Amino acid sequence: MVLGNIHSYESMGTVDGPGIRFVVFLQGCPLRCKFCHNPDTWNINEKKIEEKAEDVLKKIKRYKNFFGKKGGVTITGGEPLVQSDFVLELFKLCKKEGIHTVLDTSGYIFNEKVKEVLNYTDLVLLDIKAIDEKTYKDLTKVELENTIKFAEYLKSIKKPVWIRHVVIPGITDNDEMLKKMAEYISTLDNVEMVEILPYHTLGVFKYKELGLKYPLEKVEDLSYERKVEIMEMFKKYNLPVH
Ligand code: SF4
Repeated sequence: MVLGNIHSYESMGTVDGPGIRFVVFLQGCPLRCKFCHNPDTWNINEKKIEEKAEDVLKKIKRYKNFFGKKGGVTITGGEPLVQSDFVLELFKLCKKEGIHTVLDTSGYIFNEKVKEVLNYTDLVLLDIKAIDEKTYKDLTKVELENTIKFAEYLKSIKKPVWIRHVVIPGITDNDEMLKKMAEYISTLDNVEMVEILPYHTLGVFKYKELGLKYPLEKVEDLSYERKVEIMEMFKKYNLPVH
């Protein structure tokens, strides 16, 4: 039995996977994305809510009637695979109850345990922060390599995937880089949706609360018009853009 170190719950989420979802935010993340809206999840040693998978399942089941055909549970973070033993336990229990499971991940942690987690995962939301190695490292402080290995593994096992990409003015909002991203995604035949997420500054207040300096202070939100332009660009690669 493993205790999950849980940052928080959202009982009726509508943006992290299909339908209405019970969203579990786990504590801990090895990445340090400059645009992160959840810096309060970074520290795995910071104890928030400690719970057994069975107890989390009880909470999830209270909302089962709202899930309908599409909804279910989404595990996100932080980087949820920091606690892959806990995710495995919870997803196993969910699958026994016929609950749809979504894993929202950066793909940075990729090992045999993660492969086991994927056996109980119905859909992966894979956040590819940048497609260029240098930009990825500069943006996240870690290497891109694992995420690509993860994506290729998902393709090899035909796991349904939604790709998420945050477009940041001056960093990833660059036609050449975006085309490279679209080209790469078009090689993955298991991708069911591509979500272009415009960079915004809504999480900045958390940095102040934590006494941290926000690294992208001068960067403005991505405009709606630019988002639409980028979506059109991705559609030219026959991608299911959202
Ligand atoms: S992977 Fe997610 S939680 Fe971790 S630093 Fe990046 S945006 Fe934040």
